[in-house]
Amino acid sequence: MPTYTFRCDSCERVQELVMPISRYCSEPPRPQCCERAMQRVFLAAPGLGVISEAHYEGLRASDGTDISSRAKHRAYMREHNLTTIDDFTETWKRAARQRALRMQGIDVERPRDIAQAIDKLGGEDVAPREGS
Ligand SMILES: [Zn+2]
Repeated sequence: MPTYTFRCDSCERVQELVMPISRYCSEPPRPQCCERAMQRVFLAAPGLGVISEAHYEGLRASDGTDISSRAKHRAYMREHNLTTIDDFTETWKRAARQRALRMQGIDVERPRDIAQAIDKLGGEDVAPREGS
């Protein structure tokens, strides 16, 4: 089950609440401290983004569809053309690799950018277009 972290703006006390997503959505917790509502905070933590089957307990989509397991959730997302953050894991890994190369002075997109710039300037005889 996911952990929801709240912090008091006044005394900075942190409180964690563990509950299923479905309960968090139906009855959002409003912990109080120093006579004020605590603010929800998002702390970077090992394993953040790792979702277990327990997270899905009792979960329903906004249209009422039962999505109480990873398989049901994924099927629902596919059916409705929706996506979740973990669908971009490979995209981010590729971007991280390109960033690392760029930091070493290697820009993998540079040759394509140069070819496009030459093409835009009408330099067909300098850089022949593919397929022509
Ligand atoms: Zn407080």
